[in-house]
Amino acid sequence: MQQRVVVLGSTGSIGQSTLDVIARHPERFRVYALAALRQIDLLESQIERFNPVVVVVVDPVAAEQLQARLKSKGIPVQVHTGAEALIKLVQSPEIDTVMAAIVGAAGLPSALAAAEAGKRVLLANKEALVMAGPVFMEAVRRSGAVLLPIDSEHNAIFQSLPPGYAANPAAHGVSHIVLTASGGPFRGYKKEHLTEVTPEQAVSHPKWSMGPKISVDSATLMNKGLEVIEAHFLFGLPADKIKVVVHPQSTIHSLVQYVDGSVIAELGEPDMRTPIAHALAWPERIQSGVSVLDLVACGQFDFAEPDLEAFPCLSLAFEALQRGGSAPAVLNAANEVAVAAFLDKKIAFLAIPDVIRQTLAAISDCPLTDLDSVLDVDRKARRYAESLVGVA
Ligand code: NAD
Ligand code: MG
Repeated sequence: MQQRVVVLGSTGSIGQSTLDVIARHPERFRVYALAALRQIDLLESQIERFNPVVVVVVDPVAAEQLQARLKSKGIPVQVHTGAEALIKLVQSPEIDTVMAAIVGAAGLPSALAAAEAGKRVLLANKEALVMAGPVFMEAVRRSGAVLLPIDSEHNAIFQSLPPGYAANPAAHGVSHIVLTASGGPFRGYKKEHLTEVTPEQAVSHPKWSMGPKISVDSATLMNKGLEVIEAHFLFGLPADKIKVVVHPQSTIHSLVQYVDGSVIAELGEPDMRTPIAHALAWPERIQSGVSVLDLVACGQFDFAEPDLEAFPCLSLAFEALQRGGSAPAVLNAANEVAVAAFLDKKIAFLAIPDVIRQTLAAISDCPLTDLDSVLDVDRKARRYAESLVGVA
């Protein structure tokens, strides 16, 4: 039987890569629904290609425009609008699999609803776990959802851990895990070289092609910081068992070190279609469109410690993880506000960690018990960070 898939964030970088893999396997996958914020030109072509039953366009004006276009072409797809429609969609008994690839905090409610509904959840939206880790993982446990990481590092770790690891993480002789970082477009820059860097420079990543927010996160190393927190929740490991190493070639996607000295890693071309295909088909393997790695052509692999002086966002993420409770949610909210302000040229690159540090200091911790408590602290932190960047 075909797996019926919903692609949340279908117009984004991960969404488009997901549809590219799905298109290679029409016998295995049926695109039941697509969802995006408002990019209706691209959505329209995706609808014509994949013929979904439902489409959610969160922006109501864009939804109306799309509906009119589809009507004039006689395409009979249901168009829904509003963030609530995403929740209803992922709860539908008609679907098996949810690709959660909306960017940022906006992706949390729908990703969490998919976990609560016991779906097969392909999680690209790392912010959901950073904000709501304990709530999210409890929902997965309670519902029996199958949670498969799409982030290339976490997908690599998942592939390098033994089957049955999740049931009892302490029992498998894992010493620690190592997340690799490309180092981003400013690798090798010292702090004084970072004062003048522009959004255009920050979003041109040397190895991966990604949306603007995660591209800036890669440039500040906050992406790695968010991934450390993501790994903590996914793999049940404390902060001191999660290490980061800079590996500019981005060929080794991450590694697991075992107590007997063995190291198991996953390698491949830096192309998100590999983890996407892995998670779509797991536990089977399917073609992804990615070429096989040519080791001789790779030549050399380099490794270095991250430069925490020039890229303090990584340390801030470790601190938030160690503080626990709502601190990672505060970190995430402040980062989203600061990154948006940097992309809008309202603040400098080096102001991003300052905004996050000050917001973390200002917002007191509270326990995270459910989605409302997470959204509440997210709102508070966002308001504070917005006052710092001058957009309140
Ligand atoms: P992107 O900016 O290319 O795409 C974002 C998608 O989210 C778009 O389809 C957009 O319409 C949708 N969206 C944005 N705001 C929305 C809202 N309020 N409601 C509904 N939809 C909304 O981003 P991306 O690079 O594809 O990243 C998506 C997620 O995957 C992020 O959480 C990112 O951290 C994660 N991720 C991406 C990569 C990558 O290589 N791009 C790798 C690992 C993890
Ligand atoms: Mg990653």
